[in-house]
Amino acid sequence: MQPDSSLTARIHDAHERLNKLYGIQPIEGYSDPMHELIGTILSHRTTHAAEVTAYRTMRERFPTWEQVRDAPLDALTDAIKTANYPEVKAPYIQHLLTHLFREQGSANLDFLDSLSTEEAMNWLTRLPGIGLKTATILLLFKFHKPVLPVDTHVHRVTQRVGLIGPTMSAEKAHTFLLAHLPKDALLLFNFHKHFYWHGQRICTWYFPKCRDCILRDMCDFYQTGGTARLSSTPVRKKKPTTP
Ligand code: SF4
Repeated sequence: MQPDSSLTARIHDAHERLNKLYGIQPIEGYSDPMHELIGTILSHRTTHAAEVTAYRTMRERFPTWEQVRDAPLDALTDAIKTANYPEVKAPYIQHLLTHLFREQGSANLDFLDSLSTEEAMNWLTRLPGIGLKTATILLLFKFHKPVLPVDTHVHRVTQRVGLIGPTMSAEKAHTFLLAHLPKDALLLFNFHKHFYWHGQRICTWYFPKCRDCILRDMCDFYQTGGTARLSSTPVRKKKPTTP
């Protein structure tokens, strides 16, 4: 994809504003890649506190990864029930573990470090339940590969501001935004974190705090009256998708 230079400048402008607002952060996540990967699967449409409880309860009830793999499905589903859609996530986790043990002999993801970014992405996204978001979070946070996770917050804010098209999916936004950004892991980590925080704290789904927003003068959604239209939209619950 050929990057559009004026859009590149706009993306850079928005990112610089959020850099100043939130500060540059070092790359960090959970210390163990397995925790990062399983935690990201559990986190889909789930609060951080509920994800942490689900992971902790699972590890207390099934202390080894072999025990998680071999647990009765309903027992594993019960252990992670604080996460939303546990009946969907439990089979994903067991399938991942079965595949890892069969292929690598243990629940160890360190081999991903020696793969190219493309190879590592392909390996992860071939597994059921592991979508682009989950794969990119693991590869960026733990292996410092130059990829860009686009979760629901990053997707919403970049779409409202007009950095991606109004109908572009989060899946397409991964490659589209990445094509307009330097392939630098620290920069991409901060881009992800800052847009994520902005979506959580300022540009929330139903009640964006546009008056307090540092992106307001460049935001398509605000400039075209989107905030007012939003207040008349009924609240609806979203269905699960691949994390
Ligand atoms: Fe979101 Fe409003 Fe800021 Fe636009 S101006 S990014 S809609 S909070």
